[in-house]
Amino acid sequence: MIIPIKKQLSFLIIIITEEREYMTVQIIDGKTIAEALRAEIKTQVEERIAKGFPQPGLATILVGEDPASQVYVRSKHRACEEAGMQSLGYNLPADTPQEKIGDLIKELNQDKKIHGILVQLPLPKNLDEEEILNTVALEKDVDGFHPINIGRLAQKGREPLAIPCTPAGVIYLLKTVLPSLEGKHAVVLGRSNIVGMPVSLLLVRENATVTICHSKTVDLPAVVREANILVVAIGKPEMVRGDWLKPGAVVIDVGVNRVEDPSRDRGYRLVGDVAFEEACEVASAVTPVPGGVGPMTIAMLLRNTLTAAERLG
Ligand code: NDP
Repeated sequence: MIIPIKKQLSFLIIIITEEREYMTVQIIDGKTIAEALRAEIKTQVEERIAKGFPQPGLATILVGEDPASQVYVRSKHRACEEAGMQSLGYNLPADTPQEKIGDLIKELNQDKKIHGILVQLPLPKNLDEEEILNTVALEKDVDGFHPINIGRLAQKGREPLAIPCTPAGVIYLLKTVLPSLEGKHAVVLGRSNIVGMPVSLLLVRENATVTICHSKTVDLPAVVREANILVVAIGKPEMVRGDWLKPGAVVIDVGVNRVEDPSRDRGYRLVGDVAFEEACEVASAVTPVPGGVGPMTIAMLLRNTLTAAERLG
């Protein structure tokens, strides 16, 4: 039977439309994944205590009154408590002299009850962040920002004692959808010390081929379109659009941005750096904001604290 060309075309269009409709995106549920990880850590802490070892202890140092940092530090303490760990918080005024912070860290370095020390970043501008991070004992650096840990991360065949928490969370989430990252083209937007650069170093260690982009990158959408894996950490609300993405890409959105929303009681909502709905139309897997990378950061901090405690006895 000969089908007229017009009918053949409409048949083809229906098939294409249906394929699009059935191509479902996987939403990577960081909240559930982090909860499972935290439950596992809690069990390991109980086992450690049952064997007669001390409770793992984390000390946090917060300088100044940045509201976002206060929220982050509070949730880190809550998470420690839930995991059966001890936590001690030091909240210092913004004008605390560098020397005083250094002395506190040195004291905590000697404290046997403390296995992890976290200096909440960013520090007030007048302080020397590098010097402060350098004062934290290497084996208690649960944030992974000690220069030696970062240096080891960047070197082949060297192992850092701790890996920065958010970047570690990014890799963990990626591996829930792509068990092997080898040979994949990963594009990272952002090159900060806290997220972009350590994520890129970790991706290289996973044998991905990595392109690092920043504010001076020319034709960002064209570079992003090459990515099998896209990690975005730029702090620009919904800047990455759906039509920048390669179909089937795996997208990890680290960005957390407040945008005005009068329909909400608090007057704002949180969005990522990626236009989520648009990304869902093109990508094979995407992390939401909130509920993607955010919860993983704390889970990784708990994991690093437990590992430090196991090392220190
Ligand atoms: P930074 O401001 O330190 O770094 C931003 C990076 O993005 C820089 O490398 C900058 O480039 C790059 N950038 C800025 N604008 C553009 C642009 N238009 N095009 C391309 N690149 C651009 O931010 P962070 O890395 O600390 O944080 C990034 C985001 O991640 C923020 O939204 C933050 O809130 C979030 N975050 C989330 C965490 C979580 O747990 N979920 C933890 C930490 C951060 P250049 O170097 O050239 O200036």
